Amino acid sequence: MSPIQHMPEYDVIVVGAGNAALAAAVSARENGADKVLVLEKADEDMRGGNTHWSGGLLRFAFDSVKDLDRLVPDAEDEYPGFRAGIEPYPKAQFWSDLRRVTDGRTDESLAKILIENSYHTVCWMHDVGRVPMEPAMSLGGMRVGNVIKWPRGAIIRAVHEGVGLSKNWFETAANHGVEIRYQSGAAALIQDRSGRVVGVKVRGPTGIDEMTSKATVLASGGFEASMQMRAQYLGAPWDHAKVRGTRHNQGDGLRMALDIGALPWGQWSGCHSTPIAAEWAQFADRELTDKSNRLSYPYGVMVNKRGLRFVDEGEDQQFYTYAKYGGEILRQPGSVAFQIFDQKVMHLLEPRYEYTKPFEAASLDNLIDQLDIDDKAQAKKTLAAFNAAASSGEGFDPSRKDGLSTRGLKPEKSNWAMKLDEPPFVCYPVTGGITFTFGGLKINDRAQVIGTDWRPIGGLYTCGEMVGGLFHYNYPGGTGLVSGATFGRIAGRYAAKEKGGEKRTEFV
Ligand SMILES: Cc1cc2nc3c(=O)[nH]c(=O)nc-3n(C[C@H](O)[C@H](O)[C@H](O)COP(=O)(O)OP(=O)(O)OC[C@H]3O[C@@H](n4cnc5c(N)ncnc54)[C@H](O)[C@@H]3O)c2cc1C
Repeated sequence: MSPIQHMPEYDVIVVGAGNAALAAAVSARENGADKVLVLEKADEDMRGGNTHWSGGLLRFAFDSVKDLDRLVPDAEDEYPGFRAGIEPYPKAQFWSDLRRVTDGRTDESLAKILIENSYHTVCWMHDVGRVPMEPAMSLGGMRVGNVIKWPRGAIIRAVHEGVGLSKNWFETAANHGVEIRYQSGAAALIQDRSGRVVGVKVRGPTGIDEMTSKATVLASGGFEASMQMRAQYLGAPWDHAKVRGTRHNQGDGLRMALDIGALPWGQWSGCHSTPIAAEWAQFADRELTDKSNRLSYPYGVMVNKRGLRFVDEGEDQQFYTYAKYGGEILRQPGSVAFQIFDQKVMHLLEPRYEYTKPFEAASLDNLIDQLDIDDKAQAKKTLAAFNAAASSGEGFDPSRKDGLSTRGLKPEKSNWAMKLDEPPFVCYPVTGGITFTFGGLKINDRAQVIGTDWRPIGGLYTCGEMVGGLFHYNYPGGTGLVSGATFGRIAGRYAAKEKGGEKRTEFV
């Protein structure tokens, strides 16, 4: 046997083409990598992963309303009252929100990196990523007199939401000379004798190929689209959940990394899942993207097929409950629930409710009679009991937790609990749709993948949904994209500096 030495074909190979992957690829180019390859398993028409489907909402910390000018300089002209209703969102508040919704389990070191970098990451997406931004009016803005009230921290989104974000990232990657190969799914990681990752095995349009690199960044999403992995890690009834985003996130990157001894990290039994329109298909429509969400339940009541309420619809504002209530709905009989509203609140429903034709009736009893509820008598009793325990609406304020609570119900509705008394009454059937999974890989502050021996695996980085530890049980809306770009940027920066893979020795 004689040793031959050859240079890797690429400086950095990035697996996946969503927000995290393209942030990593652009960052790698910015930091000196000459040859950067992005492998996208989907064909060009289906490229971009969940990022394409996303609402493009970006949660980040900022100390002064002025900090937003850099991102949305024309916002006040376009939305008079934009600035007056914004409260700053200091890092301590982001941290407190993340800790609260994850029940104190978020990985502190990752959370710190995310929060510390969040504002600068979003500026980088804007300035270097060339992602134009706008106020997320239809998602969270609420006009009260001359002022628009905003949920804290979740105010800005990409123009044209995920579709725009994804398109801009692809354009920027092309402008930075990043090569993209479609229909090219990474199937396995290649290691040298030292255990260092030196490339990937790829299933492309013409067959299996091996591609070599100094560093590899895995950014191929979670396992939300894999029925088998959902059954394995999340258990029933998640194997039957409808998928809110791409069908391509089958857990490939996670499997490849675990195969070579990467350390699983975070909540592998947990996922982000939201109330979505019951009529949507197994995989979400690419044109309608995230129009499936039905998140205005804080202003109404939800009952299940047994005619019972099962969550506190008014526990908190939607961005702090929506990611866990999808799972609650999925666990109800038949995995469906019925959101019921009266005319007092119809103007508060998110515009995307318009994509469903609701059931409507002049009385609550007649409404229930039309629904696919097994115990209709119980449903009528539940609504009567709710109305007896709810307020007439004095002090109702949708822009904050108004403390308007029911008295003596199980579960109570803690805020926005107004009687359903203004016909016609309206119902939207919903189910729980899975967005992304929380289980991932352990990384360090350079986004290097850590092995089960607690040491970094040479040449291997990860970012985006594949990072484990940040989210448990629940998630503050708008954090996924900022986390993906933050760790993607870091992964690209350090991957670009990899020297160890410069020469690979093979014995032939
Ligand atoms: C409907 C919806 C709405 C959302 N709204 C928001 C929001 O408003 N704000 C927010 O912060 N988050 C939102 N999210 C979550 C957000 O979209 C994700 O957190 C984020 O897009 C994940 O980015 P990523 O790059 O890790 O993965 P993705 O964007 O999913 O990209 C994964 C990529 O990997 C590719 N891939 C998979 N396997 C392979 C393989 N073997 N080889 C090569 N490529 C592979 C996929 O095709 C895809 O290109 C939403 C998600 C959905 C589904």
